Amino acid sequence: MNPLCDNTAFADPMSLPFAEMVSKSQNIVLTCHVNADGDALGSTLGFRKVLINMGKQATVVTPDLAPTSFAWMKGYKSLICYERQQPEADKIIEAADLIVMMDYNDLGRVKTLGEKISSLSTPRVLIDHHLDPVVNADVMVSRPDASATCQIIYRLLIAAGLSQYVDQEAVTNFYAGIVTDTGGLSYNSSDPNLYILVAEMLKMGVDKTFVHEKIFNNKSVKQIKLQGYSLGRKFHRVEKYPIALISLSKEELDRFNYTTGDTEGFVNIPLQVRDIIVSCLILERPDCVKMSFRSKGEFPVNEYAAKYFSGGGHLNAAGGSFHGSFDDAVALYQKSIADFYVRWMKRTAK
Ligand code: 5GP
Ligand code: MN
Repeated sequence: MNPLCDNTAFADPMSLPFAEMVSKSQNIVLTCHVNADGDALGSTLGFRKVLINMGKQATVVTPDLAPTSFAWMKGYKSLICYERQQPEADKIIEAADLIVMMDYNDLGRVKTLGEKISSLSTPRVLIDHHLDPVVNADVMVSRPDASATCQIIYRLLIAAGLSQYVDQEAVTNFYAGIVTDTGGLSYNSSDPNLYILVAEMLKMGVDKTFVHEKIFNNKSVKQIKLQGYSLGRKFHRVEKYPIALISLSKEELDRFNYTTGDTEGFVNIPLQVRDIIVSCLILERPDCVKMSFRSKGEFPVNEYAAKYFSGGGHLNAAGGSFHGSFDDAVALYQKSIADFYVRWMKRTAK
């Protein structure tokens, strides 16, 4: 059979319960994780547009301010920030008859918004691709094999028979999420079915060049200068190991007039060195030291992040945080990543 003729690219066993839940809800709140990225915003804003096209009320509530680098996304101006607009957001959430949790699977990933969600008995739908969910929902669509949450929601909408409500605006946001989480279809994107979806999206009018420009070539001069400084002065190797590190203190970030999102993508760059397999970006933020990890091949940075930095994520992309001094965070990383690497090498007999 011609693989383009079967429907596995769009199949999901949860499409029926998902369709039923959407059909009986009229007032829907969509939420995503802190420091929203292209997948978090693409999936929520895209689904919001579909729900509005269906004649429903839908609002996206983000835990903190969504980076302005995504201001080009249609619907960005409609975002409600829980941290800054709590009274208004509380009213909207209390009035909702459905809460959708997208691109996260742990209420710890949504700051104080998580407390609000837990306090209510409103039905919930989870749509996510992170491993090992620790939150419950009435409809759970947890698909760790998927490249992006945007891939899952698009698949669900088509399988649920709602394709007539998926317009060019929604699908552009969904495509942006896929591009974000796969580095422009470079990693975590080997499933042939993904390309059937992408082909459909392009047929529906997604401007691929526009989306790639907005995701990858949308930086400010100060971001490029901070990147140059980070690579030239702050990029180090951890001793003799195939492990890299970039650390930026508050003083350094202030010097480059840092705002959230300015270091997006920095953590991936050391992996361009042929024998580096693990990379880490350490940022001294006001509330904690933020850790970002990336790896190549089978090295499990999610396991490492969970073990040492109360974090998690995917096999090759994870994050966590450290509550202590910046110098202690750097020292803990250098020591623990070397230990973890040695033990991982023994375990996998490489
Ligand atoms: P980033 O390094 O871009 O902040 O995050 C990379 C991946 O790790 C994302 O999938 C994100 O959801 C996850 N992640 C980042 N920070 C944390 C964290 O503190 N806890 C958990 N559980 N996951 C995180
Ligand atoms: Mn994602």
